[in-house]
Amino acid sequence: MAIEPFEVFAIRYAHLGGRHPGENFILADPHEFASDLDYFVWVLRRGDSSFVIDTGFGKEAAARRRREWLRSPVESLRLVGLNPDQVSDVIITHLHYDHAGNLDKFPRARFHLQDRDMVYATGRCMCHENLRAPFDLENMLEMVKHVYSDRVEFHDGDAELAEGLSLHRVGGHSAGLQIVRVWTRRGWVVIASDATHLYANFEQRRPFPIVYNVAEMLEGFKMLYRLADSPEHIVPGHDPLVMKYYPAAKSELEGIVVRLDAAPVRR
Ligand SMILES: [Zn+2]
Ligand SMILES: [Zn+2]
Repeated sequence: MAIEPFEVFAIRYAHLGGRHPGENFILADPHEFASDLDYFVWVLRRGDSSFVIDTGFGKEAAARRRREWLRSPVESLRLVGLNPDQVSDVIITHLHYDHAGNLDKFPRARFHLQDRDMVYATGRCMCHENLRAPFDLENMLEMVKHVYSDRVEFHDGDAELAEGLSLHRVGGHSAGLQIVRVWTRRGWVVIASDATHLYANFEQRRPFPIVYNVAEMLEGFKMLYRLADSPEHIVPGHDPLVMKYYPAAKSELEGIVVRLDAAPVRR
């Protein structure tokens, strides 16, 4: 029997401009174009079941890190018909501050996380300021609380969460970074999260400079191609072009919510 497709949404909640090329690529040419970053959470919906991918960051973290906070990623879930109080499953691609904040705002959710990201974010590597910088301690404390109240489902590598929905550990950028493969009306789409911040990272095989293991990041680029039906089915984690290529979920949500299960139009 055919697999029933998921609807897939990207919700844009923050922005960062004024970057220089060395912040987007290792060994960048200082004269080349430097893309801004957008910040997203993603939603998968099929009938009554839904999965939220990542939880974004709050206003306080935005102010501290000087990011432009456009809207609450948690409250914005209501724009696609989800009540955060009722969300049952949250996939955390990795524990960086921009993907794993607001963990106290999902009172009923189970959190799907890779073993290795928890080990990484609470162990020896965090003795290095450079590796620790993208994590916020309060998020880690919150996640440990969830572990102690049986609300974390750990995965080790590949895991199928439902028919047409699977997780795959990439590592690279963070030791336990995972990507999400989802069946849609246009085929297999891969929500890459920070396996590729920008289209240019995976298309040009150029690693992003926040990295735990460069070799794994490069292997991850190949994994994206393997798991997606085509390069047009790979969705980068922070590229502002996502909002340009994909159609708005509704006209009043232009620039806020796009449909990733619709074919992108490169403009
Ligand atoms: Zn990250
Ligand atoms: Zn990120």
